Amino acid sequence: MVETDSNTLPGHASIVVIGGGIMGCSTLYHLAKYGAGDAILLERNQLTSGTTWHSAAQVRALRSSRNLTDLIRYSISLYSTLEQETGQHTGWINAGSLSIATNADRMTHIRRQEALAHSFGVRANSISPAEAREHWPLMNVDDVVGAVWSPDDGRVSPSDLCAALVKGAKSRGAKIFEETPVQGIVTEGGRVVAVETEAGAIRCDAVALCTGLWSRENAAMAGVNVPVWPCEHFYLLTRPVAEISGNLPSLSDHDSHLYIRDDSGGLLVGCFEPMGKPISPEKLGHDFAFQLLDEDWDHFEPMMINALHRLPVLEQVEVKMLLNGPESFTPDGNFLLGESAETRGFFLGCGMNSVGMATGGGAGMALARCIIDGRLPMDLHEADPKRFPDCFNSIAALSARVPEVLGKHYEITYPGRQMMTARNLRRGPLAAKWEQNSACFNQVYGWERPMFFGSSGDPVLTFGKAPWFDNVAKEVGFAHTGAAIFDQSTFGKISVVGADAEGVLNRICTNNMKRSPGAVIYTGMLNEQGGYESDLTAMRISDEKYVLFVGSAAVKRDMAWIKNQLLSADRVKLEDVTEDWAVIGLMGPDSTRIADDLGARELLDLDYFRHGVVDIKGIETRAARISYVGEMGWELTCAGSQAEALYDLLFAAGARPAGMYAQTSMRIEKRYLSYGHDLDTDTNPLQAGLEFAIDWESPFTGRERLLALREQDSGKVDHSQMVSILLDDCEANVLGNEPVYLEGRIVGQTTSGAFGYRVNRPVALAYVNLENSPALDGIKVEVDVARQLYSGTLHTRPVFDPGATRIRQSNFETHLRKKQ
Ligand SMILES: Cc1cc2nc3c(=O)[nH]c(=O)nc-3n(C[C@H](O)[C@H](O)[C@H](O)COP(=O)(O)OP(=O)(O)OC[C@H]3O[C@@H](n4cnc5c(N)ncnc54)[C@H](O)[C@@H]3O)c2cc1C
Repeated sequence: MVETDSNTLPGHASIVVIGGGIMGCSTLYHLAKYGAGDAILLERNQLTSGTTWHSAAQVRALRSSRNLTDLIRYSISLYSTLEQETGQHTGWINAGSLSIATNADRMTHIRRQEALAHSFGVRANSISPAEAREHWPLMNVDDVVGAVWSPDDGRVSPSDLCAALVKGAKSRGAKIFEETPVQGIVTEGGRVVAVETEAGAIRCDAVALCTGLWSRENAAMAGVNVPVWPCEHFYLLTRPVAEISGNLPSLSDHDSHLYIRDDSGGLLVGCFEPMGKPISPEKLGHDFAFQLLDEDWDHFEPMMINALHRLPVLEQVEVKMLLNGPESFTPDGNFLLGESAETRGFFLGCGMNSVGMATGGGAGMALARCIIDGRLPMDLHEADPKRFPDCFNSIAALSARVPEVLGKHYEITYPGRQMMTARNLRRGPLAAKWEQNSACFNQVYGWERPMFFGSSGDPVLTFGKAPWFDNVAKEVGFAHTGAAIFDQSTFGKISVVGADAEGVLNRICTNNMKRSPGAVIYTGMLNEQGGYESDLTAMRISDEKYVLFVGSAAVKRDMAWIKNQLLSADRVKLEDVTEDWAVIGLMGPDSTRIADDLGARELLDLDYFRHGVVDIKGIETRAARISYVGEMGWELTCAGSQAEALYDLLFAAGARPAGMYAQTSMRIEKRYLSYGHDLDTDTNPLQAGLEFAIDWESPFTGRERLLALREQDSGKVDHSQMVSILLDDCEANVLGNEPVYLEGRIVGQTTSGAFGYRVNRPVALAYVNLENSPALDGIKVEVDVARQLYSGTLHTRPVFDPGATRIRQSNFETHLRKKQ
């Protein structure tokens, strides 16, 4: 063991960071900065010797969400100021970045990014091909149709940056030990308590796992699933080019799968090819330090042809090497940041998906804050380690998926884009029925869910009118004028059983959970800051039993959240019962007639937000009178093994299948909010307009904060408020994440968007901040869709009013009752 510091390995450290790449160094620096001066970092080889040393280290701020973007903006500010603090150069070069488009769809894609940049306060603007060439004189712009210029981006020197971070950490008391592999992780009672090294165990309160592509095997030592797998990643380096003097911006030519920058007077040409090459981490070995993989010119050839087209000067310059280095990827292309679901005190900062240098500064900051404060400083649900089902942790699934993830990095993000690999990991109880109905599936939390029906092969993706538009219109029609069958079986289902079930849930949930058995309760679960950790529907089954219906991808996260809130004296047992039950939504005005035809008239006796057991032709079903689509109906829960039989009965009685796109369109019209889109840990019920789901008499987590906010200023932390926007132009393809303008000023951002078939117009949900306008209804705004402004009107209520439908239904119910 080499002691980098004068002290020997301690027997105890409050926090042990494992891995000395950018993520480990940044996390240690921030831990020390925030007061954990006895934190240590263990690196089995030398600092930066894994992936970090050979990174192209470009730093481009714009990401798909505000907070991911903010992490990189934080990195930029850190990288450009760290030298002043530490005296160690970081190699930060602010040369800007340039994204070019060679076709109309790419142009739309980068214009959407530009619009997003404005929404996040990032400088970016469209420029012409000629202007792009001024930034990059060596570039062939013959086929370029436009570009976006981002002046604040840049790049950094990986090893210098890590040296500066380490210097800053050490100056605050943190210690680093190289050539110190962690060989074991000790847990007690579900909590990490020590790490083991050759020189003995180090007791600790928390571990930050920052071991890049080796994180899956390292996490397994703590009983934690980390679906991370490496791919080969290539860039070409040339000898100096006479025409290059000084630094050029980073150039992205995503249509050619290329990124390009200058390097020591020559060129660096990297690629994200359409399908990457996976590698087994075992092949890299534990002594894989400052090493590279073999060149593979055959694999690189198509990109080389593209590069020669873009930079004709490459014909004349001498190639120094084709660098091939490993990098880790996750199944969805986002990294892992935060506490693991399985083991308390075991935090992850890994799976960086090729943005580790750009994100590392901010991600290390956020991870350190998470360890010290017990929560992330901002909502980062995209990076939540609890977002993957365990089935993704298999080598087969990972090695199939990650090459595609690498390829998707530069793909156009068309609406409806799907991963094609590692599919069919989880099939719901109605999968065979949906296949018979030519469903087009997507994958959520490993489940295959029908998006729409009547598909004839993989749809051709577009930013224009969706190829499934008419299919979805038909399905909305079933739910609006007849009866539709929605498959909601993938909902996470958590059973909460025990003498203290009521008390525990009343402590955690915003709504009054002390209702009688038979109640259906819509509620939020909040953190201490009043932000949403989850929103869910609970059924009280008996005095000591509830079943919580949570989002399809939320079950692991919600289980962990509830578990972590339990006190040792609580007599309650949690169980994930998702796979035991199917849930079929029977929705639409004709559903009452169907209930009658099937001899299930007890359904009609159920009041709104009540549930009960109903026998439907011999199938025991628990029916809940609720709807997520704004039409009369029931959510019918039955054993998974009986789902097909129940479906057959409903179908024979006249109901027809409808998919997720129909459900999304209808829930947006009806303004039912969706976690991860309209709700997250940064939004509270007061802003979201969900105060109706708060029982102020309950002692729920987050209550004090909400009360304070309410008293402060009508409850709006930053005055932003959830609204619906009904757009005027049917062509406006709102998807969510678009800026909202009022009189030329950005006043908010959309969170969800879809075409609303019942109102025959596009509809968006958005948070807007119009501090000086108490009455929002009727205000005319504009939504920026790929730099085109579409006018629309604000509504504080849903744009679809089911009142009329309800009258129709109650008339029908009265008619049925009269028939009795
Ligand atoms: C060719 C290439 C180009 C890239 N270009 C860019 C770019 O332009 N911009 C960008 O943002 N990103 C880029 N990346 C990605 C970026 O470099 C990585 O995301 C980042 O370096 C990963 O850092 P890390 O700290 O997570 O992992 P690593 O740097 O791999 O560090 C992990 C460390 O953990 C150590 N370790 C493992 N197991 C143990 C153990 N049991 N005990 C102790 N130590 C252990 C390893 O030895 C290693 O040093 C590029 C990557 C490649 C391969």
